[in-house]
Order: sequence, then structure tokens, then C-alpha cells
Amino acid sequence: MGLFDKAMKQGLGEALGKAAKQLDQAVNQVSNQMNGGQPQPQNQQMQQQQYAQPQQQYSQQPQQNMGQPAAGAGLSAGLGGFFANLEKSAKSFATELGKDMKICPNCGKPSGKDQQFCPECGAKLPEETVAEGAICPNCGKQNDIGTKFCQDCGTKLPSAVAEEQAAEAADASVMAQWDEQLGAFPKWNCGGSKYNIEMYDNYYSFTAFFPQGMGAEAAVNQYRQILQQEGFQPAGQYPSMDHLYKMYNGRCLHVDLEHCFEGDYEWPTIGFDLSEPTGGFDYVKPEPKKPTGLKDLFNL
Ligand SMILES: [Zn+2]
Ligand SMILES: [Zn+2]
Repeated sequence: MGLFDKAMKQGLGEALGKAAKQLDQAVNQVSNQMNGGQPQPQNQQMQQQQYAQPQQQYSQQPQQNMGQPAAGAGLSAGLGGFFANLEKSAKSFATELGKDMKICPNCGKPSGKDQQFCPECGAKLPEETVAEGAICPNCGKQNDIGTKFCQDCGTKLPSAVAEEQAAEAADASVMAQWDEQLGAFPKWNCGGSKYNIEMYDNYYSFTAFFPQGMGAEAAVNQYRQILQQEGFQPAGQYPSMDHLYKMYNGRCLHVDLEHCFEGDYEWPTIGFDLSEPTGGFDYVKPEPKKPTGLKDLFNL
């Protein structure tokens, strides 16, 4: 979910709440119509009665129901139009609300249009409100907020551009963190987005986002190759291409590629720590002894 989507979820909860209430009322009205104008059931008993009734109604009052199927079909078509309208009005409601709202490019929290800095994280807020961000710079159309491209001319909207820039800036700051925390390891330049470095007791993990997992495996393989080019290699008693090691200033750098896709296939995760493989980095497999006689053969 994008920064923007998250903010919309938070900031527009109220708007959607109102829309949901409208929806509720409207559904009640529509279902009243479908129930032949009978009042909404007020309690369980009435509801049960109604569920039991339709068959009786059809058999008892055939004339009255003759024209109903067509009317029913019309009703469901109308219902589709109704939902489209509702979605439309929820959107314009949101756009209306967006006129007084800014979204923090750093944490995604919504705040009032007069705020200069995010009350949540202190980041500088954009000059534009959310609604202004949906005004097309090319043709001037006020688009629904949450739209990426102008609904009239297809131009990328300022809000979408700002979101991309914020995402790039966030990735850049994670890469700066890499220099600080993982500087001894080759830097990730294998694609993906929404980078994240987590620090645990004895190791770090790096993760990048690949929508639908597209290209994730290729990216990890590319990183594996870069590691090898930088002198990382399988080592120890159980050498494996999923655990690559390199001695660096007397310490053993270890990259764990084994558990890349154990979490989420869209978020490959690579582990980094300072640890030697089983048997030690310099482990050399002993030559099997050639039996030279009965004594060796029977281990006497
Ligand atoms: Zn913020
Ligand atoms: Zn436009």
C-alpha cells in the first residue's frame, strides 16, 4: 500500500464513515423496494417471517407478481448505477475534504492545510493541499484525489510526482544508512523499492519491495553475483551459494541469502552479520585416507 493510500485511509475515514452511513440508508431503501415496499424488519421474528414469505406470496398473488422479474432486473441495474453514484459522491466528498488536508511525505499522516510541519514526525509538509495535488498542471482539471494521472489529458499529477519523489528520497536515506551500518558489504543496486534496513542483536537485514514478486529472484541472484565479484565465497564445512563469506580486516563477513523468500515473496530479505561458517572460514576438507593395508582397513 502506497504512502498516499495509507494517508487516505486514515484521513478519509470520516468521509468514508459518512458515505457508509449514506450507503446503509440507501441499502435499506433499496431493500425495502425489493421487499415490495414492506417496512424493514425491526426484529428477528419479522425477518424470519419475510424469508419464509416470498414463495407464498408468489403462489397466492400471481397477478401482482407477474410484472416483477423485469422490475427486479431493472432494480439491480439501478443498483449498479446507484453504487457507481455512491462511489462518485464518496470520491468528490474525499476531494472536498482534501482541500483542507495535507499529507506528510515522510510518514503519510494527514494534517490540516495550515500546518507547515508534520505534527507526527516533524517533516516539512508540502505547500499544496491534497486536492491541489490533484489539479492537472497541464489542463487545470481538478481530478479526484488518489488519481495518479489526469482523467482528461493523462498528465501525471503533482501528488503522484510528489509521492514518487518522497519514495525515492526515502530509499536514498536508507542507502545512506547502508553506508553507515553495512558499509563493508557491497551496496544493493539491484532494483526494487521501499528499502528497509532492520537492526537486530547480532545482524542486520535488508529488504526491498518487488510488486507481485516480479524480478525479485533475479535481483537476489544479481546481488549474489556482485558479492562473488567482491570476493565473497562459499566457505566452511558445508559450503553453499546461499551463505557467502569474506574475510575483512580480520573479521568474517557473512551474507545470508538462504532465507530471502521465507517471509513475503514480494519482499526478499537478505541477512548480514559477522560470523564464520561451521568449521571456520579456512576449513579444508581432509583428504580421505587411502587404505594401505588390513591395519587401516579395519582401523586397528
Ligand atoms: Zn510525518
Ligand atoms: Zn489534464
